[in-house]
Amino acid sequence: MRFWIGIDDTDSAKGMCTTYLSVILMEELEKSGMRVEGFPRLIRLNPTVPFKTRGNGAISFLVNGDLEEAYEITKSCMEEYSMLDDEKTNPGAVFVEAASRAMDYLPKFADKVIKSVVSIDEALFIIGKYFIPHIKFKLGRGLIGALAAVGAELNDSTLELLSYREPERFGSKREYDRDSFFRADMETYPLTWDTVDWHNDVVVAVPSSPDPVLYGIRGDDLNAIKKASEIVITERVDKKQFFVTNQGTDMHIIDERDVKAVENFHSYRLRGVVAEKPYDIEGGHVFFHVETRFGKLKCAAFEPTKQFRDVVRKLEVGDVVDVYGSVKKDTLNLEKINVVKLAEIYRLENPLCPVCGRRMESAGRGQGYRCRKCKTKAEDRIRVRVERDLEEGYYEVPPCARRHLSKPLVRMDVDKKHVFR
Ligand SMILES: [Zn+2]
Repeated sequence: MRFWIGIDDTDSAKGMCTTYLSVILMEELEKSGMRVEGFPRLIRLNPTVPFKTRGNGAISFLVNGDLEEAYEITKSCMEEYSMLDDEKTNPGAVFVEAASRAMDYLPKFADKVIKSVVSIDEALFIIGKYFIPHIKFKLGRGLIGALAAVGAELNDSTLELLSYREPERFGSKREYDRDSFFRADMETYPLTWDTVDWHNDVVVAVPSSPDPVLYGIRGDDLNAIKKASEIVITERVDKKQFFVTNQGTDMHIIDERDVKAVENFHSYRLRGVVAEKPYDIEGGHVFFHVETRFGKLKCAAFEPTKQFRDVVRKLEVGDVVDVYGSVKKDTLNLEKINVVKLAEIYRLENPLCPVCGRRMESAGRGQGYRCRKCKTKAEDRIRVRVERDLEEGYYEVPPCARRHLSKPLVRMDVDKKHVFR
């Protein structure tokens, strides 16, 4: 029998990673004679939900084998490896027959989990309606992501090769040669991306959390990713696994044409006109307001978005922009911006003398302007077009600040891209 296993919410800020647990689980299933078909899928869910796990990623993979036996193996794997002591960790797993009617309904459910906020009751309703075998620990919140990972329809997808550490090293400082990651990027970009951040001098591929992941290489091309992983020099790699993912696809973004109202915990692409000049607050965070079809919206480029803030600071009232990002606390946290049309900005200057060419001076309050030498006069100041220090087109946050789901400009088929690398 062919069936999907979906699994989520087994990790915590203190350790583990659902991807790692899945790799072990797949090994166990294959040891008992079952076959995992194709690559497992790493599905990132709505990044704004308040009760998310660390990376908010769920896993699914297709198994050919015995469902009851797989159920028992999965259960013992989850018991052994989940971070059950952490109150925020609420693991869940589902087993969905590939040929079942549930598979027709799950894509819609998955789309909602990726773009919106879904309750555990909605997941339990589907599980009840379609008699889906499942495992849950504690609140079982992981059932939501587990179902979504099985159902997600990937019209666009990318790959990630995750490398894992030897178990005895978990929690210790990762040992790797920084330069080798920059070299790997140099050799394989743009078929791989977000391995490093050149401008901010950060190796993005290596996490700093205490989980089993040593590094992850993301990209669109299997061979380029393999090549990058051969270039990097690190401590011994214990396991490696490719995942098909929705990372870097903007799958979380709800396009303006589908928006009825702008709500917190959702992510959007919205057209707006800059209504107030950007301003900095303490800590280096930059804010501005845009007027949209849905009213005025506050937008933010926070300090971690680094040089992206310099783009935002150059916006002027009247600029037409498309803003991309998640709304939280009634503020859209920018992931990308498209400067669609720059406003024409003018400055008032004293007129020039038509005879000698020098700038005229004020002849006194309400008296117009004059050239003292030539005795020429003019009534009003003149409007001078200000040269804008900003080009139209797309700008994005640098790799070190990228959200898992955000589509990097290097993957976007648009004109006028300004890529930070
Ligand atoms: Zn003059």
